[in-house]
Amino acid sequence: MNGLFALAGNQNSGKTTLFNRLTGSNQHVGNFPGVTVEKKDGQIKGLKGVTLVDLPGIYSLSPYTSEEVVTRDFILKEHPTGIINIVDATNIERNLYLTLQLMELDLPMVIALNMMDEVRASGNSIDVQKLSQMLGVPIVPISAGKNEGIGDLTLAVKELMAAQPPRAKLDFCTGEVHRAIHSIAHIIEDKAKAAGYPLRFAATKMVEGDAPTMKALQIDENEEHIIEHIVEEMEEHLHTDREAALADMRYSYIENICADCVVKYQETHEQVRSEKIDRLLTHKYLGIPIFFAIMLVIFWLTFSVIGQPLQDLLKDMLGFATVQFSGLLQEVGVSEWLRSLIIDGACVGISSVLSFLPVIVLLFFFLSLLEDSGYMARVAFVMDKLLRKIGLSGRSFVPMLIGFGCSVPAIMATRTLSSERDRKMTIVLTPFMSCSAKLPIYGMITMAFFPDYGGFVMFGLYVLGIIVAILSGLLLKGTLFRGEPVPFVMELPSYRIPSGKSVLLHMWEKAKDFIRKAFTIIFLAAIVIWFLQNFDLHLNPVSDATKSILASIGSVIAPVFIPLGFNDWRASTALITGITAKETVVSTLSVLTGSSTDAQLAASLQQIFTPLSAISFLAFTILYMPCVAAFAATKRELGSLRGALLTALYQTGAAYLVATLVFQVGSIWFH
Ligand code: GDP
Ligand code: MG
Repeated sequence: MNGLFALAGNQNSGKTTLFNRLTGSNQHVGNFPGVTVEKKDGQIKGLKGVTLVDLPGIYSLSPYTSEEVVTRDFILKEHPTGIINIVDATNIERNLYLTLQLMELDLPMVIALNMMDEVRASGNSIDVQKLSQMLGVPIVPISAGKNEGIGDLTLAVKELMAAQPPRAKLDFCTGEVHRAIHSIAHIIEDKAKAAGYPLRFAATKMVEGDAPTMKALQIDENEEHIIEHIVEEMEEHLHTDREAALADMRYSYIENICADCVVKYQETHEQVRSEKIDRLLTHKYLGIPIFFAIMLVIFWLTFSVIGQPLQDLLKDMLGFATVQFSGLLQEVGVSEWLRSLIIDGACVGISSVLSFLPVIVLLFFFLSLLEDSGYMARVAFVMDKLLRKIGLSGRSFVPMLIGFGCSVPAIMATRTLSSERDRKMTIVLTPFMSCSAKLPIYGMITMAFFPDYGGFVMFGLYVLGIIVAILSGLLLKGTLFRGEPVPFVMELPSYRIPSGKSVLLHMWEKAKDFIRKAFTIIFLAAIVIWFLQNFDLHLNPVSDATKSILASIGSVIAPVFIPLGFNDWRASTALITGITAKETVVSTLSVLTGSSTDAQLAASLQQIFTPLSAISFLAFTILYMPCVAAFAATKRELGSLRGALLTALYQTGAAYLVATLVFQVGSIWFH
């Protein structure tokens, strides 16, 4: 049996959870709209040869955002065997809106009615059988979260493939809209068939005036004229525009069905509880201070209270292992230069970065708690007003938040933004949100210069990134990106207790990424640095690193940073290697200063920087152009190399300016 099923549903309806249940894979789940941007596929367990594709969350099939385009293109072009439509039963009216549109695609479909556990717990009920009859679509009540009904759903999919299912009842239109849709269907029937479009879907699209579909169907001018006439007549009769007319028709149909099938005594417990919590957390004045307070506590816990001891422990272990390994190499008689390459290059480079693993995993532990509980969606809501002032909307908060982890998925997540203007602006600003790869740099500098204020320095650095993003927003809003951000609508999911599995998965993914990077990019960079540092331009080994190739190159660039307060070839080299991956700044400085312990590294750093120039160095590292991977993502999403180069130039320019300001103003202050 071969088949291809699309999993479609609104954002946050539990699609990814269900996808993981059905396929046994471990995709990222988050109680946060917009987490899944790219489609993923897997084999359905127990149904050999049947592939399931997890599509990004959508509200409707009109291509307002690129993620909706992905879904629509998939269904129209890949011709799946059928659709599993997941419906959040606690929000059934809103979710059925998409269902009605999916039904128009005229594909075999089964509805997975999810979150039934919450419906049941609140004493509400849904007459599944009746609902199924009225829609003409099989419905399986499930709870993806609690792993209930998954077997039944698999069975329903199997039945769907075996038998020709009864046709879904498509005539949910009435009155004027009905007349318009059917007259248009009559006109375009042949063309829809030729283009491989479901007739009913195509006709509705014509009513909407959807240009891409008109083009796909090759509607000629004459036909377009007639269609336009029909739609205008409909608008006149109904006294509304076409979009509203369609929406009204669908919603009134849904209302009718739900009146018959859904018994809703009260909001679910989760909804009631959420409203109570939200009175405080989304409070008009307290909302933002509460958010910052929560973040401050998280940073304090991550970097000082819990993170520091763990990091010290790991460092000791790595140091011990390196010493043992070095001894072993000596014992087996490995030549001195090779031993130096392995120990002073590779081991020092990797362990300088690897010791930050606990801190990063911990930070992600807290962030995934915030995300999975549903709090982050509130923050986006609270931030909307603030973001609007700088020309963005609360929607841009999603990518920016992801940017605290890594700019690459963050830049990709801008696909969820519907307006091109908002999207570009967010791509430019997101890298100012300090990503986790920069943490080791901050950690290294605070250890050497401000060991007692770790948490606060970190918090300050993150705030600096945010402030520069805000100022840039104001600047861009007044120049390159004039115009208004689109209005912000986001469903606030109910607060939920985060599942341990999902949080662990999140942490594990982050850890895996980080370790992989340490053993690939950072490993390579450390070895290259070691070579460049131990040989001169004539490829003779040097004993004095200041005569090395690296020193020659580094010294040429170093003076550029004089206004920032540091003029040292090692610092400038580290900043350049940092473009491969930000953690490399740390490994480069460790290798270049020949430091295998913290004390050695701290002492060397104190020779390179003063406390003030250390801060300006940090300011520069937070803001300057992101790593190559993020640069490539920028290029891809902006769709132009020129745009990406200009963005990088802007970011580096801003970094230079701010770091210079920090140093120059600081110098006046401290003298
Ligand atoms: P997606 O955005 O549609 O992919 O939704 P996710 O799979 O990321 O899930 C959204 C949220 O709903 C997460 O917090 C899940 O833990 C939660 N969730 C998913 N299915 C269920 C369910 O059956 N019952 C309950 N109570 N929560 C669920
Ligand atoms: Mg998802």
